[in-house]
Amino acid sequence: MREILHVQGGQCGNQIGAKFWEVICDEHGVDSTGRYNGESSDLQLERINVYYNEASGGRYVPRAVLMDLEPGTMDSIRSGPYGQIFRPDNFVFGQSGAGNNWAKGHYTEGAELIDAVLDVVRKEAENCDCLQGFQVCHSLGGGTGSGMGTLLISKMREEYPDRMMLTFSVFPSPKVSDTVVEPYNATLSVHQLVENADECMVLDNEALYDICFRTLKLSTPSFGDLNHLISATMSGVTCCLRFPGQLNSDLRKLAVNLIPFPRLHFFMVGFAPLTSRGSQQYISLTVPELTQQMWDAKNMMCAADPRHGRYLTASAMFRGKMSTKEVDEQMINVQNKNSSYFVEWIPNNVKSSVCDIPPRGLKMASTFVGNSTSIQEMFRRVSEQFTAMFRRKAFLHWYTGEGMDEMEFTEAESNMNDLVAEYQQYQDATVEEEEEGEYENEGEYES
Ligand code: GDP
Repeated sequence: MREILHVQGGQCGNQIGAKFWEVICDEHGVDSTGRYNGESSDLQLERINVYYNEASGGRYVPRAVLMDLEPGTMDSIRSGPYGQIFRPDNFVFGQSGAGNNWAKGHYTEGAELIDAVLDVVRKEAENCDCLQGFQVCHSLGGGTGSGMGTLLISKMREEYPDRMMLTFSVFPSPKVSDTVVEPYNATLSVHQLVENADECMVLDNEALYDICFRTLKLSTPSFGDLNHLISATMSGVTCCLRFPGQLNSDLRKLAVNLIPFPRLHFFMVGFAPLTSRGSQQYISLTVPELTQQMWDAKNMMCAADPRHGRYLTASAMFRGKMSTKEVDEQMINVQNKNSSYFVEWIPNNVKSSVCDIPPRGLKMASTFVGNSTSIQEMFRRVSEQFTAMFRRKAFLHWYTGEGMDEMEFTEAESNMNDLVAEYQQYQDATVEEEEEGEYENEGEYES
């Protein structure tokens, strides 16, 4: 058994985490009381222990820790559809709030609550047969998920240095939020994630908003709409961890295939077919269509265009009943026709797998995880917003008031700029061998 311990923190982290559990409970046939109510399929239960503990009476309990600095979001999870499935002792919360201030989450209010969270984490870890690692759901733009989330990550890393650390990190966008200090909080978090996380699935609110608005034609996308995309993606990304199979079957294998350089562990994720809430049953795609959409810039949950960079590595997880041979052919086809978008100094840098069980409401789906140098576009966006304010030291007093030193801002800024430069360096690694004319196909990837 190779267990994963899930932690969700802050408003966003708790909201996307709760949706994740609803979706995977459904896929594994676990009802809201924790009882198995599925199709008596071995596939549903074979690896259930990766995410669930088995309690007395045959109930399955999520190996999940929920934390927040205010009670509101957790109250609504508790009274929500799957509220009773969580272990009550695993809700850890304060009353003070973090006021969208990373310093409060990381150094003051959050630091006061962190030991209570670590106690629960330790208890869960001790119950594991062989813990493979942690997954953390949080936003980077606020105070709790961002500041306290990264504090917890660094504490867990200290205590469990040889376990994997995966994050689902929601990046802020002014399109979705009106708090001006979010670029500060996000940059301070990235500074931590570069050092203390092994793999980060980037969920960029800017891209999620654009998908809802442009592709799904929702005129005023809500967090519920954004979170629907996130939970579909999280289910897809974790599919190979939860169901039997060969490729990327644990967190370490996923990391080995995707990370050629340790700091470059921020992944673009994509999903196909894109659907809005409640509409999926009408969509049915072929393998070529799925493949084409999955590689499409419009399907990426990160506001960066892969055609502006190159793929170091990528992985695709197809779900549903389909021919593995056809999947392999289609994937090879994309790479052959778009070879200039893949670094040639990592041969065979694209892997694909097929899992029999499709997500609810779809016959087939696919999830894409790519390590693309173009992700620097998103970091540049946040960095520009950060620098504009930091140059004038605007809003800094909220942070220094919690005891933070300006130096940490300067260091975070340069760490993120270094990251951007590293992506650029590997993007250019063989640029002299290429000709401009190679970028002939405008718009979509050829499939
Ligand atoms: P915290 O409770 O202090 O961690 O703060 P939040 O999680 O509310 O962080 C604010 C950031 O998260 C902003 O960038 C919001 O746009 C974003 N956010 C808050 N709730 C959600 C959500 O449910 N879904 C998504 N996608 N983003 C959210």
